[in-house]
Amino acid sequence: MIHRLKTLSLSGFKSFAKTTALDFSVPVTAIVGPNGSGKSNVVEGMRFVLGEQSLKSMRGSSGSDMIFGGSRTVSKMNRASVAITFDNHDRIFQLSGDVGEQDISLDFDEIILKREVFSDGTNVYSINDSQVRLKDIQDLVSRVHVGASGHHIISQGEADRILHASPRDRRMMIEEALGLRIHRMKIKDAERKLEKTKAHMQEIEGLRRELAPHIRFLKKQVEKVEQTALLRQEYKKQFGIYALRARAWYTQSAEQTRQEYERIVVERKTIEESMARAKTSVDESPLRALEQELRTYDDLRRTYTAERDTLGRALGRVEALLDVARSIPAPTAKKTSQDVMLQQEETLTWCDHILSLCSFSPDITTGEMLSRIESLRKDILLFKEKIQQGGNTVNQEIPPRVMHDVTALQQEKQDIEEKIKNLEIQIQNLDTNQQSTRNQITQFHEEGRKKEHVFYELATQAHTLKSKEETLRFHVDAYDRFYQRLVDDEEESRVLVGYHPADVVSDESLVGVDDNEDSLAKMRHELERIKIRIEDAGGGSGDDIIKEYNETIERDQFLEKELGDIWGTIVSLEDLIKNLVQRIEHDFTAGVKKINDHFGELVSVMFGGGTGSLVLADITKRKTTKTEDGDEIDVVDEEEAEKEIGVILKVTLPRKNIKSLDMLSGGERSLVSIAALFALSQVNPPPFLVLDETDAALDEANSRRYGDMLEKLSTVSQLVVVTHNRETMSRANILYGVTMSNDGVSQLLSVKFDEAVAVAK
Ligand code: ATP
Repeated sequence: MIHRLKTLSLSGFKSFAKTTALDFSVPVTAIVGPNGSGKSNVVEGMRFVLGEQSLKSMRGSSGSDMIFGGSRTVSKMNRASVAITFDNHDRIFQLSGDVGEQDISLDFDEIILKREVFSDGTNVYSINDSQVRLKDIQDLVSRVHVGASGHHIISQGEADRILHASPRDRRMMIEEALGLRIHRMKIKDAERKLEKTKAHMQEIEGLRRELAPHIRFLKKQVEKVEQTALLRQEYKKQFGIYALRARAWYTQSAEQTRQEYERIVVERKTIEESMARAKTSVDESPLRALEQELRTYDDLRRTYTAERDTLGRALGRVEALLDVARSIPAPTAKKTSQDVMLQQEETLTWCDHILSLCSFSPDITTGEMLSRIESLRKDILLFKEKIQQGGNTVNQEIPPRVMHDVTALQQEKQDIEEKIKNLEIQIQNLDTNQQSTRNQITQFHEEGRKKEHVFYELATQAHTLKSKEETLRFHVDAYDRFYQRLVDDEEESRVLVGYHPADVVSDESLVGVDDNEDSLAKMRHELERIKIRIEDAGGGSGDDIIKEYNETIERDQFLEKELGDIWGTIVSLEDLIKNLVQRIEHDFTAGVKKINDHFGELVSVMFGGGTGSLVLADITKRKTTKTEDGDEIDVVDEEEAEKEIGVILKVTLPRKNIKSLDMLSGGERSLVSIAALFALSQVNPPPFLVLDETDAALDEANSRRYGDMLEKLSTVSQLVVVTHNRETMSRANILYGVTMSNDGVSQLLSVKFDEAVAVAK
């Protein structure tokens, strides 16, 4: 048997102010000494170092109660430390790995556990000088079926603990003795982990639930983006064809129109130059001269006509005068007075007639003629006077002078007629000249008109050309605008869909196409429609959305996978728990059976007969409730539905009718307890058992039986016994005496059996 327990070292722990070491490398070690010397402190030191958390079970209420509190001569300390050394040659000590993972083997021949407590209550644990958690200590010691409050350390007065423990606590004690505690711890761990994992699963499910609408939203967005991408492709392709065709159409049509326009501009300018020339060459000075000439002729003709008319009027008068003058009354042949008188009157009348005709206005008579008439008038007056004066006696014959005057007038009349004739010839000449001048003027005007006609002809042409030019200009401008718009469209398409002319594949798009403005406008309109749809969809490439969608899906898949993993973990944890529970149940049942065998035997040995057994009982929590008939029945509490098994201890003693354990005497109780304890220890022996005055109540005979059992037990477990019992001391291999002098500090000494008996007193 390996002597697992090697040493215990106490320093500042309770009454052990000085560092005190105990060696246990023998089957049975006895600690002896007088009351109050500190023996139980050694046992508590053992509990302490193995991770005991109940201060009460170490007779303290705070961590500082574990530290040497000082005495009259030794001052108090601020730290207590206990170290325990185990043999680990067989590498039995292992630390549990995480749930489902491999345990970690501690590759040391010795394992030294150490626990320190400071006055503020802080605890520090270490394994071979490496600081560890309490859990690691508990985990480690459970490997060798040693628990802090376990069955292997029976404190003073605790021997019959198993007797008055509740069925459940008894079951726990048995489980621990059977080494099932490690499984319980594993179940606890697994349950904790399960709980955490389930919480984590809920968290992840929550996250996925939160993600779901976002994913749905993003999916729709991505579909939109994909549709838009198709639209963009379509747009890019269609725009390429459109741009190609629009350019081709523009190059052809616009160039023709531009050439035509430029030709018309040149033509129009040439005509305008001709017009300018035609306008400036008209010289009107000859016309002015001709008009002046015509006016001169008119003036002359008016003068001549007036003169002719004056002469004509004078001629008329002269002719009238001459007519009268030629009608001179003939002298009457009968010369009666009456005849004479008549003749006289006739002559006078003639005279008056002539005189009246002689009154010419000077402006219409020529000078010569006027003097002739004047001469006639005077001669007539004289002749008239003569007649009037001479009466009938007077020769009434016309005097020759008068005749001469008439002749002269006659001559004069001929002159006038001659003059008139000349004037008319002149007038006629003037008319001829006038006509010629007029003709010239007419001709001039005719030429002017002709020139004007030419000018207007040109102007009409220029006008026609101008409007044609304007029309063409309008078309050229329209082409320019069309081209500019095409360039703008290309730039816009470059930005919108990354259009590049080089991407447009072939000229095939142009084969058999006869474009015009309308067909191109139609195409462009169609493109605009697509463009609006692209812009409505947000214009951008949508890379961000696709990226976000992929990332979100990735995250969701990651979470889904994690959920899968978590499910795996949950299932394996639940399996693990189930397996552990099954294992505990199995080992427990089998263990209890074995314990019962030992227990029965031990009871029989100790009491010289009788029986002892552990009975499993259903201790599932029940509550009392009333039925409809008013009967009270116990029902299983639904909340505590999981079936729980407890352990009941049954004993019969020879010749005694034991109905309850309470009926046993102190010594009997002690023996039953020890029997149960030893039975437990034999099934799955702990590496060591500490028994603090378990033998206190035994009489001599029973002390011997007890001593026998100790020896038997020491073949499977190392024993450390605190005792005042001589019989017990006699079975020990090593004896430690604990004393306390006046300084209140416990001291340890190795003693021989006889000394021990003395020390114990
Ligand atoms: P018995 O034989 O009566 O059971 P024992 O040898 O087991 O006695 P313990 O109970 O181990 O004696 O020791 C008790 C002694 O330890 C007491 O005298 C007590 O004063 C002392 N003691 C306990 N705690 C401390 C402490 N923190 N500092 C100093 N001394 C302490």
